[in-house]
Amino acid sequence: MKSYVAESLWSPQGWTRDARIAVDAGRVVAAQGEAGERLGRYVLPGMPNLHSHAFQRAMAGLAEKQIHPAVSNALFPDREGQKAAVRDRTSQQSDSFWTWRETMYTFANRIGPDDLRAIAAQLYVEMLKAGYTHVCEFHYLHHRPDGKPYADPAAMSLALVEAARETGIGLTLLPTLYLTGGFDGRALSERQRRFGLDVDAYLSLLQQLAKMENAALRIGVALHSLRAVPERAMREVLAAGETRAMPIHIHIAEQIGEVQDCLALRNARPVEWLLDNLPVDARWCLVHATHMSAQETQRLAQSGAVAGLCPTTEANLGDGLFPLKAYFDDSGALGIGSDSHISVSPVEELRWLEYGQRLATRHRNIAVSAANRSVGETLYAAALRGGAQAAGVAIGAIEPGARADLVVLDEAAPQLAGRDEASLVDTFLFAGNANLVRHVMANGDWAVRDFRHRDEERIAARYRETVARLASQVY
Ligand code: ZN
Repeated sequence: MKSYVAESLWSPQGWTRDARIAVDAGRVVAAQGEAGERLGRYVLPGMPNLHSHAFQRAMAGLAEKQIHPAVSNALFPDREGQKAAVRDRTSQQSDSFWTWRETMYTFANRIGPDDLRAIAAQLYVEMLKAGYTHVCEFHYLHHRPDGKPYADPAAMSLALVEAARETGIGLTLLPTLYLTGGFDGRALSERQRRFGLDVDAYLSLLQQLAKMENAALRIGVALHSLRAVPERAMREVLAAGETRAMPIHIHIAEQIGEVQDCLALRNARPVEWLLDNLPVDARWCLVHATHMSAQETQRLAQSGAVAGLCPTTEANLGDGLFPLKAYFDDSGALGIGSDSHISVSPVEELRWLEYGQRLATRHRNIAVSAANRSVGETLYAAALRGGAQAAGVAIGAIEPGARADLVVLDEAAPQLAGRDEASLVDTFLFAGNANLVRHVMANGDWAVRDFRHRDEERIAARYRETVARLASQVY
């Protein structure tokens, strides 16, 4: 057992002075005996990242050039894309989620298991250094690029498990069911073939992975989206014994086009349809849930499910703004994810979650409650709670029984001059861009000390070599 003392330990209930933290086998246990090592002045729980597609880290920055409409039309091989392109032309804007998706597919189709491990490990080092101590991987790159399974059908999943293990970050791996190319049930396009698994193959993959679960690895279900998973397949997966206690994630209502297609084919909006037809409860995480009516927003909040918000990716893709104020007023649960990894920072996700609302409402200090008037503390607490719930793991709090995941901020940083506990979390989230995360413990081990990950040079070198090779094949 190791013992530590935090001069000030933050929890959603407030600050505790000279807090004893005892860690045994990766978990926080009741403190006893010697006081132990002093950790520094400001200690907070590590943040869960509830939505990640690790491979997309390697293409961040490659989809920021405007594509000419003629090229954009030629890029769309499927009807869904063509329809989206028509919509975009009417809004006189040729680039959208759908053109980004084409760049993503081109990149995705070069990546093998070793590449994925190299990219994911670099990403997870960056996450740890930014203060994320757990990640939920929404993973759909299952097969070889030609659609045939690898010799071990779990090869790509295992690459992510290995990347998490070598960096020390906790992982909820969510193998993703992806069956169809649109709401009308059409087959996957050539570029989507490696995502496809039938229900039986999917359940056996889950079974294989579930045997590997441990304190740092949890397995859950991801249904890609309403357009990619028919209702019957959803019901089959949710009825299977192996999924009964697992967290369940789904992409939903990210795009107006998805709402229009759902209304046309199912006569209901996406979130409305999900709430009407499936047993959505606290096990569920609805990723994005951007486009909801007032009634859907209220019903989602009351369901107990977590809204998985990815503000920087949603901004980058031009998705829209989540109705945060109404959702908060109904005590809805939420967490944050870095999704496409154009930014890897809980500070930036939470900052933009609030700033989007300020821009839209022309008011300040939106994310507050009657119990807490601090925007920073309210957001950090909400994302800890919702992130832990979506991950299906006892994290997000430094208390006996929880996994020992914590961050120690740099009390000597100029940004924190003249601050104390009362303004600490607000300053952490809303002042400057220098990283204040100095030490990071994940699963009881020090992954980051003095701003450096324990294996960052080796992992970065392997990443550089991998991405240089992939980029030369694509462009
Ligand atoms: Zn996603």
